[in-house]
Amino acid sequence: MGRGMGGGMGMGRGMGAGGAIPLTDPTLPIAGQAGQVGGVPLPPAMTGEPEIELLKAQAQAMEEQLKVVNAQISQAEQQATIPGLVAVVDEGKCTACGICREVCPARAIIVDQGARIDPAKCDGCGRCVADCPQDAISLHKAV
Ligand code: SF4
Ligand code: SF4
Repeated sequence: MGRGMGGGMGMGRGMGAGGAIPLTDPTLPIAGQAGQVGGVPLPPAMTGEPEIELLKAQAQAMEEQLKVVNAQISQAEQQATIPGLVAVVDEGKCTACGICREVCPARAIIVDQGARIDPAKCDGCGRCVADCPQDAISLHKAV
């Protein structure tokens, strides 16, 4: 028993300048080296700052990357539009929450007592279908 408890409790120090948040996706070059974040050098004043400043900078870099990824997702979704389909609302299910109107990139939805879709504007992207919490929208062949 001569060694006591001295060997443990070493956690919590591994996130410093040399130990970035481990990311498995190699396309996300979040900071991995001291003095930089996401490949961008930190200002000289930050290199000696406490660990929390580095973590904040990492979070900011991740937010920027998230914006880029979301923009790519949005673009891909628009490209995935299925021609010849339009969204149709089941009035019996719709609660007029307005979510579909917010997500529609074509501004094809009006919500008052319920959601109404302008088939002339709808391009069948399906976002409203995916986001409606009532499962009240479906895609149909345009007539
Ligand atoms: S998201 Fe669904 S429930 Fe909400 S207004 Fe649109 S159709 Fe109605
Ligand atoms: S399918 Fe797309 S374009 Fe058509 S109403 Fe829904 S969100 Fe708008």
